[in-house]
Amino acid sequence: MRLSRKKVAALAFLPLLLIGMSAYLAVQFLPTTFEIQEIHISSNISKGDPLTVGVKLAIKGTPITFSKAIIQVERKQDTRSVSYGVTLDKELTIGTHTIKITIPPIIADNKTVLPLTIGTFEITSISIAGKPSTKPMITKQKQLNLSFTVNRAQVEERIREHDFRENTTLEAWETSNPKNLEYKTDSNRGLVITNPTSEVVSFKLRKWVNLTGIPAIHVNYTGGVDTIIARANDTALYPILQTIGFSSFAAMDQLGRQLVEIEFLISADNEIAIQNIRAPTKHRAIFLAVMSHSWDTGSGYDEITDDIAEASMRFEQALNVSFIPSPPRYFDYPATTDLATIRDYAVIASEEAFGIPGGWRAETGYSAENKGFDVLFIATNETADHYGIVFAQGGEPTNYLVIAAQSKEAYGVRVQAEWVDNLFQHELSHILWALDRWSSSDPPSVMTKPSSVQDALQMLNSGTLWLQITNWLVEDQIRMYTYRDRFEF
Ligand SMILES: [Zn+2]
Repeated sequence: MRLSRKKVAALAFLPLLLIGMSAYLAVQFLPTTFEIQEIHISSNISKGDPLTVGVKLAIKGTPITFSKAIIQVERKQDTRSVSYGVTLDKELTIGTHTIKITIPPIIADNKTVLPLTIGTFEITSISIAGKPSTKPMITKQKQLNLSFTVNRAQVEERIREHDFRENTTLEAWETSNPKNLEYKTDSNRGLVITNPTSEVVSFKLRKWVNLTGIPAIHVNYTGGVDTIIARANDTALYPILQTIGFSSFAAMDQLGRQLVEIEFLISADNEIAIQNIRAPTKHRAIFLAVMSHSWDTGSGYDEITDDIAEASMRFEQALNVSFIPSPPRYFDYPATTDLATIRDYAVIASEEAFGIPGGWRAETGYSAENKGFDVLFIATNETADHYGIVFAQGGEPTNYLVIAAQSKEAYGVRVQAEWVDNLFQHELSHILWALDRWSSSDPPSVMTKPSSVQDALQMLNSGTLWLQITNWLVEDQIRMYTYRDRFEF
């Protein structure tokens, strides 16, 4: 029998049709569901880092759109636990997939705020909700006991070949190497440079260094130096003893580095020994428990946490410190303009807001009693007697501060919306023990307040009022960099 051309075409399509039908049947009749197969977390993170959770899901039947995950995290020390809820909005096809969920360093739910401070934590459960297109929502939960540790950050050395006692070559440095100096290496004393002449001779070392987050380089040397001069990109710097401070505003190359030049003026008929040149740094995260009363986001102010983030970036750049805020918790107080009274109400309210028995514990630096928080940050838009205050105890700053944006301090002038981040920067600098400076004796900086009404007007007009500028003086940067260790325990 001869088949017509039409029949051949029809027969050729038959198997395809059958395959199509079987796939169709499978889609219709295999149950649509998913399983949480595995959870991965990094077992070690540093304080201030987010925690990444990898969730491996197996999807059967039809694609599923995942909408929400809830992860329960518990602090081992006191079994405080919090539910971290995250919106996923992810459609996944049949098969296995791993989704990544990032948990921030301070976790909050409606009742509890849990900072991932140094210590051991556990993920105790995870629950995931997903919806197939034609079926109701499916929710799966898995009980777990996945622990992870939050550690102190490690020291990072920005000048690698720094120790001239161990590595006596100057390979990593560009040097002026004047012919009239004599060089020798000594495993105890380091690089010994002798000036046999009867005149002062200059010896220079140059190197590109990433100075982001470090305020100073330490030059350890002994011997007959008339002067040590340091420059970063041709800006003269300020040696304080053997520490050279940097302003964070010098020009950088594409890799974020600055050209550092250290010049030793070696005295006549004398010698120096350079042991090492170091630029060590360590990231430090400081957790803020934020309390707010009537913060005026309705009429121009940003969210408190946005302005803290703005200020924090400046601390990161200059000092490798980040201030990480909790979501604000609200508190109330009776009519008063006295910041100490406002503080006292916030301290009482912090018991319920942050689970601190008896309320916030005042210390200079870190307190183990504050549930993993480092600083109580109290903000109000009500009129008060200052824009802001950090209370002192025994001459040192305590671990709480109050900000009042509507103030009697400057003739009842409200803090302008664009000044708020600077006000935060100023008060957080006090937490790290930078002191107020005054225009009669100090150059403009975020800490330099006007000494008189005339100064205030002049500074405002020239844009150098402390609420308008963000720089610190180098001495203050070095002082804060030293004091930040009070928040390590
Ligand atoms: Zn101040």
